[in-house]
Amino acid sequence: MTQFVGVRNMVRWIQHDGVEAIIREMMGELDRDFGRWQSFEKIPRLASHSPIGVIELMPTSDGEQYSFKYVNGHPSNPARGFQTVTAFGALADVDNGYPVFVAEMTLLTALRTAAISALVAKYLGRPDSRSMAMIGSGSQAEFQALGMRAALGIENLTIYDVDPNAMEKFRRNMEPLGFTITICGSADEAILGADVVTTCTADKQLATVLHDHQVAPGVHINAIGGDCPGKTELDSAILDRASVFVEFEEQTRIEGEIQQVAADFPVTEFWEVVAGKHPGRTSAEEITVFDSVGFAISDFAALKVCRRMTDDSDLQDAIDLIANPDDPKDLFAMTLVSSPVH
Ligand code: NAD
Repeated sequence: MTQFVGVRNMVRWIQHDGVEAIIREMMGELDRDFGRWQSFEKIPRLASHSPIGVIELMPTSDGEQYSFKYVNGHPSNPARGFQTVTAFGALADVDNGYPVFVAEMTLLTALRTAAISALVAKYLGRPDSRSMAMIGSGSQAEFQALGMRAALGIENLTIYDVDPNAMEKFRRNMEPLGFTITICGSADEAILGADVVTTCTADKQLATVLHDHQVAPGVHINAIGGDCPGKTELDSAILDRASVFVEFEEQTRIEGEIQQVAADFPVTEFWEVVAGKHPGRTSAEEITVFDSVGFAISDFAALKVCRRMTDDSDLQDAIDLIANPDDPKDLFAMTLVSSPVH
């Protein structure tokens, strides 16, 4: 049997252990996995594009375990009553190839995206950062805010979204958790004086939600919404002034903010900072950009954390996913009316 965490149990797990505790656990797992970068098989994700969205498969393996995630990105979905991003995924045992763990990953993706943002900010943000501007307050936003609190202790948030209802929703969700929320009338107003800027908007175009003149020295930018060919959020002039960090360069060149600049534009893969091969931020004035697109190793880490933290509990269901004939060469016997399955 394959173990399964579906939506109901994912919700129970998160309610029981708490978003921040899970994000912290994932930060540790990501730190260890990015620190052993060379152990992984890495390819840019496989993307199937349509005029209104994308469906992607994200595989990786460390030679012992294999994982994949199925994820979509459809910026026009909320207007039609659907979410922009949904996902599910699996872990398999490389030894026999059997899937051992399957999970819903819409919520898990929000947690892992917040966890990698948080880990990067912990390495690259100024340790004295006290405020964050959030441009875009949709599905990912609360998770991103909780991640930044886990990383840097930030509780002062200025937010801007083109949708006033999304900002009210964010305030309603976050104020009871101890955050001070200031709703702003423009991105300019939100960004003024912020130590960290998170952009998490969804638009299937080369958008500019953050302009060069808005970015002060010393800011850490966590750019998560530009994650597809033809879909960006930052003014490319910001990249020229900043040190740019990416997950997996080969994939980010296709999908990230750096699709706007020359192919030889210098970037640093984040694992190099984790492994001590790159110093990360070198001054309080440096502008650092995490050009996040989402990479398979983060999903691998998230699946492992979810499996471990829900192990040996009623949060996992055993599902009948893999046909298991008594004789491994006699699959056909399962179809006979005399088979014990009938
Ligand atoms: P969502 O649709 O729920 O929220 C996006 C929000 O952005 C909406 O509230 C929308 O009104 C707002 N918005 C759009 N254009 C704006 C603008 N110009 N200025 C201000 N606000 C604007 O989407 P989500 O699930 O929160 O995802 C946000 C983005 O993050 C998407 O683009 C998604 O593809 C991306 N994403 C990236 C990763 C990653 O690993 N990097 C992971 C998950 C999602």
